[in-house]
Amino acid sequence: MRNSKITNFYTKVAVIMNTNTRTHEHTNTRTHEHTNTRTHEQQIISQPCLICSSKTNYYFSKNYATYPGSPFKEILNVDYYKCEECGFVLSQTHAKMSENDWTQLNTSWHHHFEKNPESNTTHNQPPYADQALALKLLSKNGIININDTLDYAAGYGSMAKVLKKYFNINISIYDKYVQDIESDLTYVQDRELKKYKLVVNSAMFEHVLERKHLDAVNDLVDSDGTLMLHTVVCEKVPADPNWFYITPIVHTAFHTNKSMEILMKQWGYAASIYSPQAKSWFLFKKDSPLINDFEHIVEAINRELQTKYFHYKNGFVDYWKGF
Ligand SMILES: [Zn+2]
Repeated sequence: MRNSKITNFYTKVAVIMNTNTRTHEHTNTRTHEHTNTRTHEQQIISQPCLICSSKTNYYFSKNYATYPGSPFKEILNVDYYKCEECGFVLSQTHAKMSENDWTQLNTSWHHHFEKNPESNTTHNQPPYADQALALKLLSKNGIININDTLDYAAGYGSMAKVLKKYFNINISIYDKYVQDIESDLTYVQDRELKKYKLVVNSAMFEHVLERKHLDAVNDLVDSDGTLMLHTVVCEKVPADPNWFYITPIVHTAFHTNKSMEILMKQWGYAASIYSPQAKSWFLFKKDSPLINDFEHIVEAINRELQTKYFHYKNGFVDYWKGF
């Protein structure tokens, strides 16, 4: 369990570093402009919403204590901005951070966490076994094509290993920074990336700072394909510095049911399925084969399992309303 936690966090660090590398290619002029206090300029000029381009407004702040290795030697004041249209919330403090600080924040957070594996400063792991079962159920019923699958930003391939061992299913996995070279998993290299019928993406959407990093995931999904997402999506992001999901200082982006609905439409997805057990959404492109039958197939699976294992909706399944 301990190793598993570390591994997964390392995955996230890799994702963030990947994001960072691409994020700051053209932002040398911003280097060293970070500050621990909100400037007058930052209060007035806010970036438009990453999702819908609408106006964002200052929402709330949280003070993060420093930790060994942090680039911020004193308390870091983080400002969160909320879109007035879709409710998506982004840390503009992270978005304005220099490349060096962002990289150091992620790597130091990783090392700090690794030395304190019992720390409660990270959220729970993705439910790998339940994700694998959900994939098997949907595959067996013809809703997804598991034979052409990529787990993007998969780290050491924890979910792929479960799929392989317990379900005898092999999928391709990709991670820019970490690979388990001792495993027999199928790692894909950058130059080999293509379009896939199914792209799996766990615990990455909450780490992004720029729209292009979300688009990079969708770009891998075929025109009639499926995107499986594991992240937190809520009805309303609470203006609460103690909210569990902003506890890790490396969580920067918080999605809402409305922002996901908008994102789906922009990307050409028409319907979705959610599994509470797998804590994962499956988004289906409008040209997905059998998409008109999904609702009935899902009902049949739920009758078979005698539980509401999957939730189907034309649009985004707004399952979580209680935040
Ligand atoms: Zn928005």
